[in-house]
Amino acid sequence: MQAVRSFFKTYFLWELLQGMRVTWRHLWMRKITILYPEEKTPQSPRFRGLHALRRYQNGQERCIACKLCEAVCPALAITIESDVSADGTRRTTRYDIDLFKCIYCGFCEEACPVDAIVETRIHEYHMENRGENIMTKDKLLAIGERYESMIAADKAADAAYR
Ligand code: SF4
Ligand code: SF4
Repeated sequence: MQAVRSFFKTYFLWELLQGMRVTWRHLWMRKITILYPEEKTPQSPRFRGLHALRRYQNGQERCIACKLCEAVCPALAITIESDVSADGTRRTTRYDIDLFKCIYCGFCEEACPVDAIVETRIHEYHMENRGENIMTKDKLLAIGERYESMIAADKAADAAYR
């Protein structure tokens, strides 16, 4: 009996018809796909993308080289070296994040007592040359300066949500 049923299913292309029925049904449904990159889905203010180092409004670096972010990073992606600066404050002389190691967990941002290291909404970036995966302090500060208004707005939205 099973063999006969299988024969008729094959002969009348039963699976194909079933597939066509699904296609026909979905042809008239509301589309849930978008035409990326022209169209984009909404992002949470907590989105964890490319990192940035922030400054205070007077231009001073927020980071106090406490190394909490380095200690908490589960991927060992952060490397920090520090020294005492001319004004007697403790500052980083080196702050590297290896994006190939980073798993974008956000622990560094959570651990930072002065909101210095943050993860921005930026997720459309790429590397073309060896070594570009290392985000140096200068690169991270530059991202922070460029996107400070967006970062501050996201921080405020996140605080209101909590
Ligand atoms: S997001 Fe997570 S893995 Fe990436 S640098 Fe921060 S703590 Fe490390
Ligand atoms: S980024 Fe924040 S947690 Fe990391 S060393 Fe600087 S102050 Fe400390």
